[in-house]
Amino acid sequence: MKPAIVVVGGGLAGIAAALRLVDDGERVILLESRKKLGGRATSFSDVRSGEVLDNCQHVVMGSCTNLLDLYERLGVLQYVQWHPKIWWANPPHAPDVMQPGVLPAPLHFAIGFLRMKLLSLQDKRGIARAMWQLIRMGGEGRARWRGRAFAEFLAETKQTAHACKVFWDPVVVSACNVPCERTDAAHAMLVFQQGFLQDRWSPVMGLSTVPLWSLYEPATAILEASGGAIRTGVSVLALAYDGRRVTGVVTDEGIVEAGMVVAAVPPDRLAKLCSQTMRAADCRLAQLDAFTFSPILGVHLFFEQQIMSTPHLVLPGRPTQWLFKKGIDSQGRLHIHAVISAADAWMELDEGEIVRRVMADIHWAIPGSRGLEPSAVRAVKEKRATFACLPAIDAIRPSAVVDGIRGGINNLFLCGDWCDTGWPATMEGAVRSGYRAAHGVCSALGRPASGKDSSRLGLVADVPAARLARLLGL
Ligand SMILES: Cc1cc2nc3c(=O)[nH]c(=O)nc-3n(C[C@H](O)[C@H](O)[C@H](O)COP(=O)(O)OP(=O)(O)OC[C@H]3O[C@@H](n4cnc5c(N)ncnc54)[C@H](O)[C@@H]3O)c2cc1C
Repeated sequence: MKPAIVVVGGGLAGIAAALRLVDDGERVILLESRKKLGGRATSFSDVRSGEVLDNCQHVVMGSCTNLLDLYERLGVLQYVQWHPKIWWANPPHAPDVMQPGVLPAPLHFAIGFLRMKLLSLQDKRGIARAMWQLIRMGGEGRARWRGRAFAEFLAETKQTAHACKVFWDPVVVSACNVPCERTDAAHAMLVFQQGFLQDRWSPVMGLSTVPLWSLYEPATAILEASGGAIRTGVSVLALAYDGRRVTGVVTDEGIVEAGMVVAAVPPDRLAKLCSQTMRAADCRLAQLDAFTFSPILGVHLFFEQQIMSTPHLVLPGRPTQWLFKKGIDSQGRLHIHAVISAADAWMELDEGEIVRRVMADIHWAIPGSRGLEPSAVRAVKEKRATFACLPAIDAIRPSAVVDGIRGGINNLFLCGDWCDTGWPATMEGAVRSGYRAAHGVCSALGRPASGKDSSRLGLVADVPAARLARLLGL
């Protein structure tokens, strides 16, 4: 039997790396400390409500080509329900709807945008000016903004305070998990250029219709069929290093030898697995302590009444940014999930106070719900939800493989949403990093990798920009 490649961590990055390696003909052992796969994008059995709940709503966009490729490989693509319309609360009026219209990209949102009552004419003029700049600057212009805060771009394009509050901040905070004043401009710009402007499909929002953890269940059979295994409930305690190469991993159940190791854990966890000698030997490991994190709060609310008519709702300018209608639970109650990104101010609050504040936002957004309260709740705080996407963050994000010039530990590969994918901390970023790591392993083994296009280092091609968008600069 050929030596196994050990993948440490069964989040999306680890699953993506493992499945790609299996497709490349490798035998993989994936070690995950929790009982279930999925890492931060997973579910749990809630004893209080008796329901399986996602730790938080996870949104996939049409632009997430690598994540969708992984779902396809897992055979679960049919569980993603697509939502082309985005609903923006604007009480006491009906919600504004943003949806692609008849015009070609990048003008596809223009008609819906002009109709939005939430924004004044002055707000719209400013937003249109900024969008035009984003279109014209393209990817090269975006790169020049790396290391600066997105708020500087908003100031330069003379956005109104109201547009910042009800339009830019909700989008940027949801995508980057830090507010405009603190978000790296290049990352926020990527969200608008690639996620909104360049084509009609990228901004379409996908929501899983099944608990997140069930999306990953097929992975076990795929690995086992290739002679590998997924071992859950096994914690890796250290990476074994002989001064030149990683020789395996030390777990709470013994040593697992490995010819190659893919570390798919967050940076703070990886720091605990590496000795100082290792960290000195590989510059990719030098900045593991430099990452800071930003929290997300998800609140599950169960109502006896049908209070929400739209499938989701943006709450512009409110502390609660999104509501998602999850459906009717096993007890016939309406399940709504509220999301608060960049939730630093909420982390010390108790559940009662959290629910009181979220309900104030719900009563604001859905006037018909006033006077009604949930019959059950469950708040889930994720203190280290994502790395904080601050200016110059890309300078500390390591690559999957050793840099040929600076050297390092050649048989250690890194992945995770925090690696240098160019994306904010997202499921797509995690999968991209996993595919890059798998491609690196195959190159190190001298084997051709099965990635859809090897010139893309194992990555699936991005959604192509529409013709007009390309002509204009995107
Ligand atoms: C509340 C919340 C909401 C989010 N919303 C969205 C969203 O809407 N859309 C989106 O695209 N992204 C969203 N994200 C981000 C997304 O969840 C992450 O970017 C992605 O899941 C990261 O995957 P990963 O594999 O890099 O890391 P992780 O998911 O953290 O996976 C790492 C895995 O390694 C395991 N592990 C750690 N240490 C060890 C060890 N010593 N031994 C063995 N195993 C170990 C962990 O248990 C974990 O399973 C959200 C994140 C959170 C927390």
